[in-house]
Amino acid sequence: MPSSASTLRRVTVLSGGVGGARFVQGLLHGLRSGVVPGGSAATEVTVVANTADDWWIHGLKVCPDLDTLMYTLGDGIDVERGWGRRDETWSARTELETYGVEPTWFGLGDRDIATHLVRTQMLEAGFALSQVTDALCRRWLADVHGGLVRLLPMSDDRVETHIAVADPASPSGRRVIHFQEYWVRLRAEVPAEAVLVVGQDAATPAPGVLDAIAGADLVVLPPSNPVVSVGTILGVAGIRDAVRATEAPVVGVSPIIGASHVHGMARQMLTSIGVEVSAGAVGEHYGARSRGGVLDGWLVDATDAAHVGRLEGAGLRARAVPLLMTDHDATAAMAAEAVALVADGPA
Ligand code: GDP
Ligand code: CA
Repeated sequence: MPSSASTLRRVTVLSGGVGGARFVQGLLHGLRSGVVPGGSAATEVTVVANTADDWWIHGLKVCPDLDTLMYTLGDGIDVERGWGRRDETWSARTELETYGVEPTWFGLGDRDIATHLVRTQMLEAGFALSQVTDALCRRWLADVHGGLVRLLPMSDDRVETHIAVADPASPSGRRVIHFQEYWVRLRAEVPAEAVLVVGQDAATPAPGVLDAIAGADLVVLPPSNPVVSVGTILGVAGIRDAVRATEAPVVGVSPIIGASHVHGMARQMLTSIGVEVSAGAVGEHYGARSRGGVLDGWLVDATDAAHVGRLEGAGLRARAVPLLMTDHDATAAMAAEAVALVADGPA
């Protein structure tokens, strides 16, 4: 590994919400405890967050993945739920329901609403989402890992994932709904016929994103959804090229174990874009940088060891290790394996 071999000064992670946040939490634990090779408490970590799940509801701008990352890393998350604030109360939701205000299927907690109020007011005053995120993170991340953790939205522009689902009542036979309606109201229980990322073509990376990728010693794709989390980040103009071009090695961790995701709806999303639901196929979907893709290395779960040969045949370094994020130590060990896999530098 070039300058990065002995010392990890800067690590950049392209993350969705719950899976990515848990991984970054374990990575920070591993850096601090010395488990991650070359890492230390002085390693800077930049997290580039998916913002294609964002939407406006009850007049508020809600950014689920940014908030999950901010609350998880800032120790304000409800650990059981995996999203939203700890010790949450729901009076505002009950009041809205009593008024008969729709939609009732998307609940905002009282504490969480304060975050959305700050964000919405700042956006309406003309600040960019990246500036707003920085302001919110002053509360949550200033004391985390020596203040060396930075959270950036992938873009300041509006990008929204929409999902096409079958609808016999519609003349076209299908209906296109916001990702949140698919995930929260329909619980991803009906097939996704297509994934449409509205606004992606016109979006540009937020300030700092391309530099964080170009200037990193290591770039990580955590076990986030390959389609609607990492896929939407890579889809912002310039980001995929920056990952392909960085001198840092790029390593990914599979969110798929066996034939499904661990939590969430990666299975449905992969199926809708025609990618087989397996750790091997997702590694091939990202592809080796030496063959036009974005990865140098790809970790699969120990139970998916049979996929290693296939991945190596696709030009990737691959290893099979336990990939369940059961606690911080287990996750730190995963992060250490990811770093070690590409310790010799880009493939
Ligand atoms: P979201 O935005 O909240 O959906 O979160 P992400 O996109 O960051 O992560 C969702 C992905 O995390 C899902 O595809 C899960 O399979 C994956 N995931 C969650 N927990 C684990 C785990 O313990 N191990 C692995 N390997 N993947 C996990
Ligand atoms: Ca998400």
